[in-house]
Amino acid sequence: MGAHWAVKEEGLGVASFAIIGAGISGLACGNALAAAGHQVALFDKGRGPGGRMSTRRIDTPLGQAFFDHGAQFFTERDPDFQKAISALEAQGAVGLWRGQFVRVDGQGQQHSQGDEPRYVGTPGMNGIVRGLAVGLNPAWAMRVSALSGQKGAWQLHFETGETLGPFDQIICAVPAEQVSDLLAAHTPAIAQQAKAINSLPCWTGLFAFETPLALDWDMARFEAHRVLDVISASVNKPGRTGPATYVVQGRADWSIAHLEEGADEIATTLFQALAEVCGPLPTPLVQSAHRWRYARVETSHGPGHLYDGDQGIGACGDWLSGPRVESAWLSGHHLGRHLSA
Ligand SMILES: Cc1cc2nc3c(=O)[nH]c(=O)nc-3n(C[C@H](O)[C@H](O)[C@H](O)COP(=O)(O)OP(=O)(O)OC[C@H]3O[C@@H](n4cnc5c(N)ncnc54)[C@H](O)[C@@H]3O)c2cc1C
Repeated sequence: MGAHWAVKEEGLGVASFAIIGAGISGLACGNALAAAGHQVALFDKGRGPGGRMSTRRIDTPLGQAFFDHGAQFFTERDPDFQKAISALEAQGAVGLWRGQFVRVDGQGQQHSQGDEPRYVGTPGMNGIVRGLAVGLNPAWAMRVSALSGQKGAWQLHFETGETLGPFDQIICAVPAEQVSDLLAAHTPAIAQQAKAINSLPCWTGLFAFETPLALDWDMARFEAHRVLDVISASVNKPGRTGPATYVVQGRADWSIAHLEEGADEIATTLFQALAEVCGPLPTPLVQSAHRWRYARVETSHGPGHLYDGDQGIGACGDWLSGPRVESAWLSGHHLGRHLSA
């Protein structure tokens, strides 16, 4: 790993920023800062790009199966976000998902969920995050465990035992529940706001079959099922290859009630729920479950982003803006623009 972030160039108004978390909000912030000429170093504990927009690969006898096991699609309403997404679309990192999206009510009746364009990363959801990371070169598998120092001379301490710095300023772009451990000693006001946020968990089932299931929709949201929140036929998203994959998200209240159960038991329950809705199922090539402990913020009336100018510490992410891909991007983008102004 190069030490480019440790070298501060002497230039008028050029600052070095360390960004903790290379999900979509951290990358949006990094891109805005880099566009203004600042030096940016990103660190993420994950082994690769994605955060809650990850794509997971699982080997099967018929080749690798790809699962978007976090966000399923996103919409775009803000002109700045539309511009960023159009650029990624031109690079082949984003595609329009022309599917049938339905809501299923308590009587089992289907209702169309509107025709607002829905986008996905290609060839997997993490394609967007990968696209946004180009030029920023985040360092993966680098979990920040603590900070020390002060504005103009911050050091980052990693779980690996390494220390890197100095950095002028720090941006914390991680979920709320992980903010306060990092920032409480340095900027209590930001840490306290993060502590007030509650995120809901989501048990997610990952299933792959040799051939696609016969369904008359691509994604269904269930209003009154005891287990199910969403079934997504991810096989039908643009640019997907490999076995036919389905992602099944459990309801938040059901996920809370079963949070500490084993993944195998959860996968079995979600498979049974899938069969209840779709009819008898063939033997799956993949039957697995992933627990998102902090999937979506329950409420977010946040200011969009936070910045403590005395300490040179900023915070961005969906916990400050709303539980959507676009909101997370806007949070990071606006913080980066604010600091570049
Ligand atoms: C199951 C699920 C379904 C969803 N469905 C949708 C949907 O359909 N549409 C939609 O718009 N949104 C959806 N969302 C929400 C959307 O995914 C998030 O709002 C968005 O991805 C949040 O981005 P972020 O950058 O704020 O956080 P994250 O993506 O969580 O990024 C934070 C990053 O910080 C890293 N990190 C954390 N702690 C540390 C540390 N100490 N050191 C270094 N790195 C660290 C993590 O590895 C992660 O990469 C869904 C989310 C989930 C979980």
